[in-house]
Amino acid sequence: MSPTVRGLLHEAAAGPDARREAQLLLAHALGVSRSWLIAHDDAPVDAAAAGEYRDLLSRRKAGEPVAYLLGRREFHGLEFRVGPDVLIPRPDTETLVDAALGLAAAHGCRSILDLGTGSGCVAVSLAHELPGAHVCAVDASGAALRVARGNAAAHGVDVEFLEGSWFGPVVGRRFDMIVSNPPYVASGDPHLLEGDLRFEPAAALVGGRDGLEAIRALVADAPAHLRAGGWLLLEHGYDQAGACRDLLAATGFGSLLALRDLAGLPRVAGGALLTPDSPAR
Ligand code: GLN
Repeated sequence: MSPTVRGLLHEAAAGPDARREAQLLLAHALGVSRSWLIAHDDAPVDAAAAGEYRDLLSRRKAGEPVAYLLGRREFHGLEFRVGPDVLIPRPDTETLVDAALGLAAAHGCRSILDLGTGSGCVAVSLAHELPGAHVCAVDASGAALRVARGNAAAHGVDVEFLEGSWFGPVVGRRFDMIVSNPPYVASGDPHLLEGDLRFEPAAALVGGRDGLEAIRALVADAPAHLRAGGWLLLEHGYDQAGACRDLLAATGFGSLLALRDLAGLPRVAGGALLTPDSPAR
């Protein structure tokens, strides 16, 4: 006899998170929505779908992130394809997108550069909300760019994708706004050995010994790539707000911004470039 939806869900670990995850995995294996599953507890599940679900469930029990198992994650109201080549979009990063949208509306930013685009979630969300803007997105990983290009195409937005390290592919170009969710976790941080982070690309997470290596490089080179009055917005770690503020102030940025994420933690630093040709340091 075929197993039922209810029977298969009982094979998951106990607890509300495990239950919800099991529903997502079974819905994925069956090609139905989670709400369909909830309404069809008694439905029989064929052997192929049951086998796929059991495989996903055992991978989940071994720690693989749900987003990678499903191949997708919702971010800022859009669905993004994701896989192990890219960081999983996080709600924290919606703070960065909302801040960029607010500044773009207030100051009429028409050209935006996203450095280290990964899945493209920031660049695609901005392009989706700002149809008149030109969004350029850079990543050092060709594999990540393939994912990001797919996400831009899926949402019908035009983003200029360039492969290379930080400002490498945009030497000589200036933008109205630069945004980035760079790697900012310190290399010795024990969180790297926990949860989803164990499966995510280290290059998207680790910012050197103090976590600030990429942020320092981005702030130093930003003045050469911003128009006068252009904005730089960076996501950072919960304990890096002061360091980011000091770096921005020392590099010619004013109107400094410090924003908290939905969990109330300091998460985004930014400022406007006072003097466009400040020497990079
Ligand atoms: N916010 C992520 C985490 O600590 C890190 C993302 C990043 O380094 N950009 O889980």
